[in-house]
Amino acid sequence: MRGTDVTTNPRHLPQIAALLDQPAIAQLTAQYSHAEVVTALRADLGALRAAMRSGETRALPDFATPGFAQKLSARIEVARQPVLRPVVNATGVLIHTNLGRALLAPQALRAMADVAAHPANLELDLGTGKRGSRQEPVEGLICALTGAQAALVVNNCAAAVLLALSAMAQGREVIASRGELIEIGGAFRLPDVIAQSGAHLREVGATNKTRIRDYAAALNAHTAVLLKSHTSNYRIVGFTAAPSREELAALARDNNVILMEDLGSGILIDLAAHGLPDEPVVADILKAGVDLVMFSGDKLLGGPQCGIIAGRADLIAQLRAHPLARAVRIDKLSLAALEATLRLYQPPHDPLAEIPVLQMLSAPLAQLQRRAETLAGLLREAHINDIEITPSAARVGGGALPQQDLASVAVSITAAGSSAEALAEHLRGAPRPVIARLHKGRVMFDMRTLRDADLPDIAQAMPPR
Ligand SMILES: *Cc1c(COP(=O)(O)O)cnc(C)c1O
Repeated sequence: MRGTDVTTNPRHLPQIAALLDQPAIAQLTAQYSHAEVVTALRADLGALRAAMRSGETRALPDFATPGFAQKLSARIEVARQPVLRPVVNATGVLIHTNLGRALLAPQALRAMADVAAHPANLELDLGTGKRGSRQEPVEGLICALTGAQAALVVNNCAAAVLLALSAMAQGREVIASRGELIEIGGAFRLPDVIAQSGAHLREVGATNKTRIRDYAAALNAHTAVLLKSHTSNYRIVGFTAAPSREELAALARDNNVILMEDLGSGILIDLAAHGLPDEPVVADILKAGVDLVMFSGDKLLGGPQCGIIAGRADLIAQLRAHPLARAVRIDKLSLAALEATLRLYQPPHDPLAEIPVLQMLSAPLAQLQRRAETLAGLLREAHINDIEITPSAARVGGGALPQQDLASVAVSITAAGSSAEALAEHLRGAPRPVIARLHKGRVMFDMRTLRDADLPDIAQAMPPR
């Protein structure tokens, strides 16, 4: 166990049990759990073993010294850091699934903290003192904001689609256009979800064109649902056709089947009216005659992870009574955050100013330019010399407005003696990791997904001079 041994043979490494008997290492088990110390030892020995196997000659550390124990202790402290932690999103993708999608408004954060720290009337009617519904307050808000007769909130939009199809089409047929058989990512493929629900998919039309008569021809005694899906992460352009919602709704009504739409990113306000890109508004979809619409809470709505199903009261009542509804129900923290977020859509609030996703979406270019100049100044102080401010293109992401660029401003840098990839990796290793974009050999920070409070963290993440 001496530091002077030089070896290329992994067999010369000591046993874990023997190391645990070393006084300096044994002392660590007073401070940390036995399992933590063993894991750290295994990691250290594993690294030595791997080096030897690859043919390196290694001087063995002196396992008996306090220095080695300190190294183990440092390893354990690193392992104790939370794995899930805040990062800086400089990617320019507003709703970034890998980075946790929508940020919550302060009101939503407070609501979550309140119901987490205290008992809450989750399923208690304060008027009667009897059991109540956890859904009622948000259901009322969703109906007021979308014109729906009724609504149900579940764990996420994927669960909403699975529940709706299971309850409405199990053992029967679902007609969907070939151009809308989406894969969202994370193994959410519409044909698989339909199969999982126990329904049978009947594909109609072609990839680029589906007409109302294709749906009409496919209808039969087994049909339960016409399913429309928002092609949220791709776009079919060129020689294309798809029936309108009104046409589909008329066909569904005449044949006594249900028209459902998997909308993905549900937006509650008309963005086009604010000069922003056009995205179907939930209220318009229901008005067009769709019976049930499903959308996410943490995309453009700007709330917590959840899935919302809105539409006909008789159908929502069936969904609520389905056994899967209990399995995919929303938790109280998300419910509190959703209620608080939905209230920001009501007067006197201004959702575009108060809901972070919509703030980012609607921030004027002049504000982004100022933010870029502030960041450039901080980076100069951090001894970055090659700094450029350029126009850039941000994206909504999260399956909304596919392929549609949002005008933005970016700061891009290089660092002396380091490739862009190496610099990006260094930034990801910061105490608050910075997730940037690589563009033409430069590391790029898009201002549209940043907040002013993020800028000092970016500067601090820069490599030491
Ligand atoms: C994002 C998306 C989903 C999945 O939503 P989750 O809330 O992540 O489960 C389903 N359908 C469409 C069209 C989507 O865009």
